[in-house]
Amino acid sequence: MDRSKAGAVASALKVSERGRQIDDEVFKLALGLPPDSIKLTAGEPDFSTSDFVNQAAIQAMAKGLTHYTSSNGIPQLREAISRKLREDNNLSYDPDEIVVSPGSSSSIFLLLFALADRGDEILIPDPAWFHYAILSELAGLRPVRVPQRKEAGFRLSTDDMERKVTRKTRLMIINTPSNPTGHVMTRDELEEIAGVAERHNITVISDEIYEKILYENSRHVSIGSLPGMKERTVTVNGLSKGYAMMGWRIGYSASSSELAEKMTSLLGYTLVCAGSVAQYAAVEALTNPKSKDYVRKMVRTWSKRREIVMKHVNENPSLMSAVAPQGAFYGWIDVSPSGMTGGEVSSGLLKEYNVGVMPGHLFGESGVGHIRISFATSDDAVDEGMKRLAKFLQKHRK
Ligand code: PMP
Repeated sequence: MDRSKAGAVASALKVSERGRQIDDEVFKLALGLPPDSIKLTAGEPDFSTSDFVNQAAIQAMAKGLTHYTSSNGIPQLREAISRKLREDNNLSYDPDEIVVSPGSSSSIFLLLFALADRGDEILIPDPAWFHYAILSELAGLRPVRVPQRKEAGFRLSTDDMERKVTRKTRLMIINTPSNPTGHVMTRDELEEIAGVAERHNITVISDEIYEKILYENSRHVSIGSLPGMKERTVTVNGLSKGYAMMGWRIGYSASSSELAEKMTSLLGYTLVCAGSVAQYAAVEALTNPKSKDYVRKMVRTWSKRREIVMKHVNENPSLMSAVAPQGAFYGWIDVSPSGMTGGEVSSGLLKEYNVGVMPGHLFGESGVGHIRISFATSDDAVDEGMKRLAKFLQKHRK
């Protein structure tokens, strides 16, 4: 076996070993929890898809729209996405610059394959959704983590980013609103990131899946809409969070038409196309004005639960602290005042008090003293789960 192949195999094995460890923890916490436990682990809305979207899918089935579609998605859906990007995000993309895929996770994976060569480096915030690093490694990239410091309100700093840039840096991924911190990047933070990308010729993958889940006065800005940034940005989004369509598996990317073609080809050979019925349902979700009310209803509900979380955090300053999330539906709780790591809290809390939360280390080194709780559950689950968390921390504080 030649050296580069051996290296590739070794690195794939390393990924799968790390991936397996993460899988193990995530599986136990997200899927394998006892049925009577309080689950604050889920990364998805507790709402089901709205009825008008379901009806559109039923009609598509009745009309026999159950065949393969073109690999980049049905034209009606790419047109609806193009309109949505213009209206919501101030981004101008033709339908042939949009590629629909089975969930934004697969958009990101295909993009990493299409954009980078083996050994290239990708800047990834720390903490961030753990899939970014694993997917990057699978695509042969070296993930380089850039701290999102709590003291700076999770704002990425130009200095931190520039310190991590090397000759090999090709890509950067950002996620606003963020999983897990709930941080929403402001226009001037995005301008600074854009400056770094421009100075070092870096392509930005902007994951905007939580764009509609915003609290108080937060506003979502797409980095691709900043002057000069369209050319060096790929915007990724999907219908899982803002339209409660997790299981339908609809995501998309907007990029140059050359990259869209490359993605389409990769998608065609691997995933073939997103599900046809799901694509018709997605057209309805994006074009029916009732969707706006639906997301407002979800956000109102989560906003109440966000307050419940923050009330418990603020009542126990000697045990935990958190910055109130500006978006998404997660509480990123610093449990280090208790003297414990997020891993110890996550496993102990489950064993003793039957509450599942995600250990922060899954999201990056900076998460070691943290846990992530999802408040996309129910008011009672959040209230009771937070009470038990405080009890647990009180009992075991070091
Ligand atoms: N990006 C982020 C930040 C996420 O948290 C998730 C889901 N947990 C996704 C992308 C993927 O969503 P989907 O594949 O359902 O579109």
